[in-house]
Amino acid sequence: MPNPNQPHITGTAINYLHICTRKLWFYQNHLEMEHTSEYVDLGQLLHEESYSREKRREWMIADLVQIDFVDKHGILHDIKSGPAMETAHIMQLCYYLYLLKQRGVSNRKGVINYPRQRQTTEVELTQEREIELEMAIEKVSEIAALPTPPHAEYMKICKSCSYQELCWS
Ligand code: SF4
Repeated sequence: MPNPNQPHITGTAINYLHICTRKLWFYQNHLEMEHTSEYVDLGQLLHEESYSREKRREWMIADLVQIDFVDKHGILHDIKSGPAMETAHIMQLCYYLYLLKQRGVSNRKGVINYPRQRQTTEVELTQEREIELEMAIEKVSEIAALPTPPHAEYMKICKSCSYQELCWS
């Protein structure tokens, strides 16, 4: 059963934790700038145009995460634009599986689809990953509660980040 005391943490927050804690802080403190990024537009386009032959159906879990589609074998799929941030994608999809498990659905497997690269990555919610996720959930809350955003060094990904103006101009 879901824990009623569990903080409201989205799949995006788990993803950002594994990309940049400063980005996570902005997001958790409602400084959402995704609409200003052309990369987000590309992601949305990919999301809308990919897998049109699949019986795509988006699923929401507890208003926290949106699953792109569930295939005929019951496997969860998450569509991403490229594998550069694969660890973040894996943890995000594991979080979906974790939330489902908490709600009595024992599906432990998912697939990340990278349509531009014609690649897929299979993901499994192992016991180790569940422990990692529980630590990640705590970490998200700790970072969100910081009075100011954590310091970050310039990274390659900053040039495609929707928060780059806040960080580097
Ligand atoms: S621009 Fe770079 S440092 Fe700033 S939030 Fe984005 S990824 Fe993090």
